[in-house]
Amino acid sequence: MSHDAGAPANGTAARIVEPIRGTLDAEVTLPGSKSITNRALITAALAEGVTTLSGVGLSDDTRAMIGALSLVGVETEIAPDETTLTVHGVGKGLRSPERELDANMSGTSARFLLPVLGLIGSGTLTGHEQMRARPMATLCQALTDLGAVVDGESLPIAVSAPVTGDSVSIDASVSSQFISALLLAAPLFPNGLKLTLTGTPVSTPYVSMTIAVMESFGASVQGEDRDSGQVITVSPTGYSAIEYEVEPDASTATYPLAAAAIVGGRVRVNGLGSNSLQGDAAFAERVLVPMGARAFVDEGSIEVRGNGLLDPVGVDLGDMSDTAPTFAALAAKADGVSSVTGIGFIRTTKESDRVQGSVDELNRIGVAATVDEDGFTVTGGVHQNATVQTYEDHRMAMAFALVGLTGGPVTIHDPSCVGKTFPGFWELLDELRATARTTPRVLAIDGPAGSGKSTIAKRLAERLRLPHLDTGAMYRAVTYAVLKAGVHLDAADQVGQAAVDAEIIMRANTVVVNGENVTTAIREAEVTAAVSVVAANPEVRRVLVDAQRAWATRRGGAVIEGRDIGTAVFPDAELKVYLNASVEERARRRAAETGEGDIAAMAKAIAERDHLDMTRETDPLMVADDAVEIDSTAMTVDDVVGRVADIWAHGDDGQQGQQGQQGQ
Ligand code: C5P
Repeated sequence: MSHDAGAPANGTAARIVEPIRGTLDAEVTLPGSKSITNRALITAALAEGVTTLSGVGLSDDTRAMIGALSLVGVETEIAPDETTLTVHGVGKGLRSPERELDANMSGTSARFLLPVLGLIGSGTLTGHEQMRARPMATLCQALTDLGAVVDGESLPIAVSAPVTGDSVSIDASVSSQFISALLLAAPLFPNGLKLTLTGTPVSTPYVSMTIAVMESFGASVQGEDRDSGQVITVSPTGYSAIEYEVEPDASTATYPLAAAAIVGGRVRVNGLGSNSLQGDAAFAERVLVPMGARAFVDEGSIEVRGNGLLDPVGVDLGDMSDTAPTFAALAAKADGVSSVTGIGFIRTTKESDRVQGSVDELNRIGVAATVDEDGFTVTGGVHQNATVQTYEDHRMAMAFALVGLTGGPVTIHDPSCVGKTFPGFWELLDELRATARTTPRVLAIDGPAGSGKSTIAKRLAERLRLPHLDTGAMYRAVTYAVLKAGVHLDAADQVGQAAVDAEIIMRANTVVVNGENVTTAIREAEVTAAVSVVAANPEVRRVLVDAQRAWATRRGGAVIEGRDIGTAVFPDAELKVYLNASVEERARRRAAETGEGDIAAMAKAIAERDHLDMTRETDPLMVADDAVEIDSTAMTVDDVVGRVADIWAHGDDGQQGQQGQQGQ
């Protein structure tokens, strides 16, 4: 449980995040994107008529925007479930505010509202102390260049005359929010806007997001590259009111998705997918996959499956910089040195200096990290519990909570700062925790040689998105090591010792033993002829069965093929399939696979191996009592895969055993 740690000396409660035991198996629904919501609130406010925004995530930042817009005459109704907003747009009928507009701590509100005051030509914008320290000068200058009279370079800022011009240049290297702010108001500028971007642009996906939202509300935006920089032209069309569905927040999605990689198991985020407007939606593929997790992205969801082991990586997060603290937490868990570049600009533009903050807080919990010119470097390792400072920065709190999910607890200072964008974050973490399973979901496929186990298991693994483990390859790997060491097959102790000493790595389609890639070598006749003798050795079996259990448990489940998976390795497997075929058919399949011409000889060799596997003392090949038997002699691969997938999804339909027929 993550729980209240009481009030530390400064009077703000802290929260202890304890490790999760087991692996995750969760589907989560996240609040709407703050970035999209605050953009759509502006376009809806500036549209003529009533807009409905659904799927929004109400947070401190969106409330700040709604409150400020009401002062310029835009009324917003919040539905009781707080996910739908009805915005009464006023078009050009904006009112001069009677009071100061308060952006509170919201960067997007501060930036996006200033050009709105530039449309009106009067009003003052202020914000929380933290926001007053964040840069606004570039935006003030641009509005001044457009003819507005703007007083102040940081909040509070007063506007006393409106925008009259239609052409301006802006430095794109500080914050993309300045660009987005000008673009959002531009369809209501008297003559539209021709905006020239200079400098190396940062966070460009956010500009694309702004343009996509504007276009949904009927704006006309053209981009072109010129020698002087990129030029974006916005026509003075105004906006039309529409019904608009806000995507879940992709920056927020990085926390549960990273949790799957850190803890192991699976987490799926619904409603966010390959067509997302948000650059951060690429985090799973760009960061978690290189670190060793698997990602499945389609139009409607992103799913990450991890095994709790992370590889170190170097990444450039220049266009998804809000994910830098999430990366810090992942890097702390990785086995080696990781680094991030491209994010120097976030040191001054975000809620806090997330570069220095990430490094300081990693050091505080005993993880080595240093600030670099354009990012930071982390040496992953064991952490200690300490109270992580969060600098009133929601992302620092949510990211560092991830560190506590494995290895040992961490304590998060000022946990309520998550309310800025995601008040329900701690409940989400508890929801993830509640899905933790300590027993993996195993689909066991046992059967004799040539029964089609490998083909079927691989296809099922792909279809069910589970990892695939070929345990036969592990016995073959040990056999290879035994033969290579020149150990006599009768020397049981030495054969057993070879298994104890063997370092086997099972990756997708690759088998490595003692540092040597033996993927092809273990299929050769010499290994095949010896493997059943090696596999009968009780010490070999003890070592490999333990390794197989650990492999699948770390991943939260797997499709595992072998001879004893349902009977010995995972006797509690969720589904056990015993796959069989007549010995002639199996010989034919193996002959086709290996190019061997003598089918009768192949049938004899297979029958001999079957005999050894079925009569050995330790964990012989046999049908588990509760296995579904499938005789594939006359079935296609698709038929078998379809039938097993169906049973996995819906349970056996009472035909258990009916297909059973030993093909001997
Ligand atoms: O499936 P494959 O033909 O690669 O398996 C090679 C051998 O490994 C089998 O004949 C059997 O002796 C052994 N084995 C085992 N238990 C398993 C998997 C394979 O004894 N779970």
